Amino acid sequence: KVMEGRSLDADTGMATVKNIIGVASGKGGVGKSTVSLNLALALQQTGAKVGLLDADIYGPSIPLMLGMKDGYMEVEENKLQPAEANGLKVVSFGFFAEQAHQAAIYRGPIISGILKQFLVDTNWSDLDYLIVDLPPGTGDIPLTLAQTIPITGILVVTTPQDVASNVAVKAIGMFEKLNVPIIGVVENMSHFICPNCDEKHYIFGDGGAKKISEQFKMPFLGEIPLNSGIMSGSDVGKPIMITNPDSPSAKAFRIAAKNI
Ligand code: ADP
Repeated sequence: KVMEGRSLDADTGMATVKNIIGVASGKGGVGKSTVSLNLALALQQTGAKVGLLDADIYGPSIPLMLGMKDGYMEVEENKLQPAEANGLKVVSFGFFAEQAHQAAIYRGPIISGILKQFLVDTNWSDLDYLIVDLPPGTGDIPLTLAQTIPITGILVVTTPQDVASNVAVKAIGMFEKLNVPIIGVVENMSHFICPNCDEKHYIFGDGGAKKISEQFKMPFLGEIPLNSGIMSGSDVGKPIMITNPDSPSAKAFRIAAKNI
């Protein structure tokens, strides 16, 4: 349970944020952004105040998943003002008009500087959770997050296949080396629920994430089904947690959020 709070240097400007949770994966395409967004919404639906920082500066996808385009963020008194969507406070590099349709071509130090600004130069105000959607892998951005501010911990997203879980292990290793706690692992695209018989089919194999959680003695937070509603909701900016909160997929996100 992470709600015990963190002690943050007042001068980071983030003392009003109770929990900062980084969402990491080994590989891209495992649904890390989808899980970050829907978990943020699931936490918010419990009454928590939640922010979502899209730290995937090279490939921001949160604006699309929330149906937001560019030009959403403003600066007031030298602080970035987060955009608001579905009650979430959201910051993304994709909101900057000139960047929305261009590749971010920056070297590591610049990218680290952008992330630091998004963290500490943003008016997050009072939040119970700030979810940070990290880019996949073990590059500058996860490293900067781990070294800039004390975070509550990392949540690891993987799919069941060995190609994803074997690389997720490397990301876990990096955070362990940096003494950042791992909150647990979520298995995305875990199974397919048959629309006719409601049975779960583990079409990509069973237990990839559970194996990791046992190997590293970390909690297994939940399994999210492979579901076309999750995908289509993301593509049109209408997350399933909002459009279909009673669906088995939304329930799966709620269970994972409860286990955080
Ligand atoms: P990542 O952030 O790991 O690169 P994304 O969240 O962008 O991955 O997801 C990649 C693609 O997979 C997107 O099209 C997304 O809608 C889809 N997707 C993610 N999770 C699921 C799921 N559980 N069921 C169906 N499609 C999913």
